[in-house]
Amino acid sequence: MNKENINLNPKVTIQKSTYETLEIDSLIKPLGGIKNFIEKGDRVLLKTNLLNASEPEKSVVTHPNFIKIVAKEILQIDAIPYIGDSPSGPFTKRRLEKVYSKSGLIDLSNEFGIELNYDTRSKKVDIPNGKRIRKTSICNFVIEADKIISLPKLKTHSLMIMTLAIKNMYGTIPGLIKARYHSKFIRRKAFAEMLLDILSITKPNLIIMDGIMAMEGDGPAGGKIVDLGLSLASDNPYAIDLAVCDILNIQPVGIPTLKEAKIRKLWPNKIEYPLLNPKDIKYNNFDLPSTADHILTGKKIPSKYPIPKENCNACGECVKICPKKIIKIDKNIAKIDYSKCIKCYCCHEVCQYNAIKLENKKINN
Ligand code: SF4
Ligand code: SF4
Repeated sequence: MNKENINLNPKVTIQKSTYETLEIDSLIKPLGGIKNFIEKGDRVLLKTNLLNASEPEKSVVTHPNFIKIVAKEILQIDAIPYIGDSPSGPFTKRRLEKVYSKSGLIDLSNEFGIELNYDTRSKKVDIPNGKRIRKTSICNFVIEADKIISLPKLKTHSLMIMTLAIKNMYGTIPGLIKARYHSKFIRRKAFAEMLLDILSITKPNLIIMDGIMAMEGDGPAGGKIVDLGLSLASDNPYAIDLAVCDILNIQPVGIPTLKEAKIRKLWPNKIEYPLLNPKDIKYNNFDLPSTADHILTGKKIPSKYPIPKENCNACGECVKICPKKIIKIDKNIAKIDYSKCIKCYCCHEVCQYNAIKLENKKINN
């Protein structure tokens, strides 16, 4: 074990599934089964990806069927699952209600009595081995969990290229503090260092990844839906992200979080695959974000700007989230002062109408 208590000889289990055929018990059996991670009576946080108020079929959020099947597994051993995430934008009860409602979680909660988190408080927490940050605010719903099961969605990400298990724990930081970190850690390397610092104090006990209906292209909100039909599990977030790269033929050092994990010597020595092996289920046509850099594309680093389009409905969500406060609504469309834009793509990420495209457009101001 290293100072982060990470198993450097982990197992990653991979299955082909749909939201109807998913069998969590057989997926995690080679890892020792659910009782290897959760005890009777534990309050278990299901850290889902609830980026914004988006219907499940858009592949932006962890699918409610996926969450339901995991929750049932926990209920079977008399532990208590509850669902939590800090979506993009302000972390308020009103926003959580909207996100839970659109993503199908209110129905799930009503049907199975699974608790949805509405506690928007947070506490300052030390990060003893932090490289980029030594203290941060962490949401109460995370701090108060007995155990954490992370349920990331397999997606691309315009800033960090992929959002997988490592990045899923960024949703433990309350609302607009996340946007503030975008402004503070502008370069991908610095942002990845910060993400790994956060993961070092929020490491989940188990990760079960929803890679069934995934997202490629300009994710994490406006990309294209891709049917990969995969579910993956591990107790090691670095191993599961490396497994995804292997399946999708992505060079892991091109993903800033994995590159930083390598620098910190957190890559596993060896990954064991007791079920499917990535080499047998290669997916060769996965479309990376248009912002992917030269390590992955062999081309010059693209300089993409967020460009609001005609379908903007002036909802103002991008105005609230922009860390540089350079977006305003003018004549019913979002307008951006590009002279101060740091290209963090928070506006692109928060727009649930897919009205902000990333383009090489020549900017005049
Ligand atoms: S660009 Fe999107 S988030 Fe911004 S105001 Fe328009 S619709 Fe809302
Ligand atoms: S306009 Fe968009 S990309 Fe530019 S700083 Fe604001 S949120 Fe970030």
